[in-house]
Amino acid sequence: MWFISCAFVTSRTSSESPAAVTTVVPQAEPAMSGPNYVTQSTAGSDTDPFFDLILNDDLANNAWPTKLTEYKNSGDKLSLMGQAMTPEIFDKYKDKKTKSAGWTIARAINTGTCYPTSFVGCHAGDLESYHLYSDLYTPVIENYHVGYKLDGSMKHITDMDVSKIEIDLTPEAKSKIISTRIRVARNLAFFPLNPGNGRERREEIASLLQKVFDTLEGDLAGTMYLHTSMTAEQTQQLVDDHFLFRGKDKMQAASGYHVQWPHGRGIFHSHSKEFLCWINEGDHIRIISMEKGGDVKRVFERLSRGIKAIEDGVRKVTGEADIFMSDPVLGMVTCCPSNLGTAMRGSVHILVPKLIASLGFDKLDEIARTMNCQVRGSSGEHSEVVDRIDISNWRRLGFKECDLIQDMIRCVNKMAEMEDNA
Ligand code: ADP
Ligand code: MG
Repeated sequence: MWFISCAFVTSRTSSESPAAVTTVVPQAEPAMSGPNYVTQSTAGSDTDPFFDLILNDDLANNAWPTKLTEYKNSGDKLSLMGQAMTPEIFDKYKDKKTKSAGWTIARAINTGTCYPTSFVGCHAGDLESYHLYSDLYTPVIENYHVGYKLDGSMKHITDMDVSKIEIDLTPEAKSKIISTRIRVARNLAFFPLNPGNGRERREEIASLLQKVFDTLEGDLAGTMYLHTSMTAEQTQQLVDDHFLFRGKDKMQAASGYHVQWPHGRGIFHSHSKEFLCWINEGDHIRIISMEKGGDVKRVFERLSRGIKAIEDGVRKVTGEADIFMSDPVLGMVTCCPSNLGTAMRGSVHILVPKLIASLGFDKLDEIARTMNCQVRGSSGEHSEVVDRIDISNWRRLGFKECDLIQDMIRCVNKMAEMEDNA
């Protein structure tokens, strides 16, 4: 068995990483479990909000956050969590804890409490979180994955058959595309999700995955690198080339994604860098297929094969039967409710300079949303538009993978046509 029970971990020292937590608040039961944290009022100059876990003070005391009442009364747009949560729901759940991660309602809602502009605003510590705290997660999931119902009437179906992608990018769209990338998130069924994990468990996951990567063959074969063993220059080059995650995201840090950075984080890539896996970014594994140009079907086919190879490899190395954390209704289980279901984001990087100049990011994103897609900046979520935009499917739950790729293709074709007519 690879599962180990929830253990408290000590925070890193400043010599180990760029950011350090030295002011550690005593664990308050039952609101807190998992990695150490500081609170907003005790965070000192040695705390890095881009990496360290900083909790709202009320939540650290397992109390309804007055901040959330303020946001709700402000009339400003609320996160999905902010829309769903009430003091009554908080009271109903505040003395509960999930079994594997020890996940609490306080930890679940910290991101949206600290950052009201976050879109989703809550995270899960394990599969049980989604069921135990259903008054929170059900409306969040149904609001994000519009049209999907968690009342038992719907089941999520996975279908990675490339032959079911029946439409293609137009030549006009292809000529503007720099690169195509499709990724899925996967979590190992026998570990809690990472927001509740500290260094030890992330390192355990990384060493298991190293053995799995060693089993890959052909165009999937390659090398794994840990953040702790790469030089700063190597890491930066991979980030600049869009291959590697950078951490350094305040909203994600507030969920516990980046605690004890960079321990246990890494990347595997094939020799061509067309098949990659991220290790312990947020989810345990992000499986990625990418290449220059707009051959979406080729990218999808490689991804489909890669997912299967990783699943088979984990089975071989561990002897476990159930490999990826999943649920008949929720599909693939992920830390962020936005990724449930397929856990897939299929994107292109596309050059549409006239549209960027005339409409700007917000308008382009608004147009994409009407086609069930979204626009991101030139280097990923929460980044600026420099030269290119990233267009990808928005929905992930209740649809087959091939249908979501078709959402993306339709939107990209439309944007390319608008660029040509601008
Ligand atoms: P995700 O969380 O879905 O994997 P992010 O928005 O966090 O995606 O971006 C992760 C990295 O992947 C960033 O460096 C981003 O620029 C890169 N990326 C996303 N789509 C593409 C693409 N089509 N081509 C090249 N790089 C991409
Ligand atoms: Mg991301």
